[in-house]
Amino acid sequence: MHYLDNSATTSVLPEAIEAAIKMMCVNFGNPSSLHSMGTDALHTLKKSREAVASALSCDASELVFTSGGTESINTALFGAAYKNRHYGRHIITTQIEHAATLNACKRLEQQGFDVTYLCADQSGHISIEDFLQALRQDTILASIMLVNNEIGTVFPVDQIGVVLKRKCPRALYHIDAVQGLFRLPLTPNKWNCDMLSISGHKIGAPKGIGALYINKNVHIPPYLVGGGQESGMRSGTEAIPNIAAFGAACRIRCEHLESDLNHVDQLNKYLWDCLMHEIPWVQKNGAPDIPHVSNFSLCGCKSEVMLRILESEQVFVSSGSACAKGHESHVLKSMGLRKDQIDSALRISFAPFNTLEDVDALIKALKKGVKMLKR
Ligand code: PLP
Repeated sequence: MHYLDNSATTSVLPEAIEAAIKMMCVNFGNPSSLHSMGTDALHTLKKSREAVASALSCDASELVFTSGGTESINTALFGAAYKNRHYGRHIITTQIEHAATLNACKRLEQQGFDVTYLCADQSGHISIEDFLQALRQDTILASIMLVNNEIGTVFPVDQIGVVLKRKCPRALYHIDAVQGLFRLPLTPNKWNCDMLSISGHKIGAPKGIGALYINKNVHIPPYLVGGGQESGMRSGTEAIPNIAAFGAACRIRCEHLESDLNHVDQLNKYLWDCLMHEIPWVQKNGAPDIPHVSNFSLCGCKSEVMLRILESEQVFVSSGSACAKGHESHVLKSMGLRKDQIDSALRISFAPFNTLEDVDALIKALKKGVKMLKR
């Protein structure tokens, strides 16, 4: 099996599985219970929070565990918009955000907020000048992704933070860093960032766990209310097995960070060498800034059909975001790609466990697909 769809999700690291099983079968107490089973679970909660916080170079008290990137983003956007609604109603985001941000913004529009969606250029980047131009006196929130999930471009989140806080000091700033964790250094405290979302299943933890960084000087209303867990920011009994797995995955990924990045870089170079050699008419989509994601079109070969051919060779890739479920990519559309380019786009996304053999298998399967589909 050659799994090359790691932006959609990754397999779970053995250390993360082990940590989760322990918290399900042995230390299965509720961290709010006062007996020793509870305090054991509370201890794991604390240690896991510290492990995730160290990946963001932030204080553990600035992290709230959630059910994933989507919940973190919803908590950040609705919390910030409601907190700041007396100062203004204008929000800035981009056209090429993940559906979690776009649909939260759509709902905020229905509630009377006014959202500016910045366009991407042909390379898949957004410009700081466009951001500056979009700023208004009543701008109360900006939400920008760090790494685009479909094309791997990186946005100037540090510069955006500086301009936003200079022009609109009351505005809150959220960064969707779901695809950035362990791809780039995450330093929310240096980015003038108030809130930042991450997700476990993109880095070797199970699905259904994520975290929201909230700067210690920022107070937003919670999205979920109830028993007041997570300092009142996310009620509900903590998902300790998932949290322990997230902590374990962060520890492992931190330890191997440098060698993992070098390895993925090598894989990416090898992929493009092979592609240019074997299928020289391939069209690269966008100008990715990280080696983990490549998006390209093989015009004349429909993505859905190509995916099936690759699958028959045990090669798993995608045609874009997993959430789009085969619908036309809003990211490639925003970049101005032609319909035939969009219809034939494929996304390859690497994780550290991928090998050169995975790339060889992909190239072989692509050549088979091209032979069958291209006339
Ligand atoms: N943001 C980005 C950029 C993503 O790629 C994803 C998932 O694909 C999400 C948010 C949502 O994260 P989750 O699947 O944990 O809800």
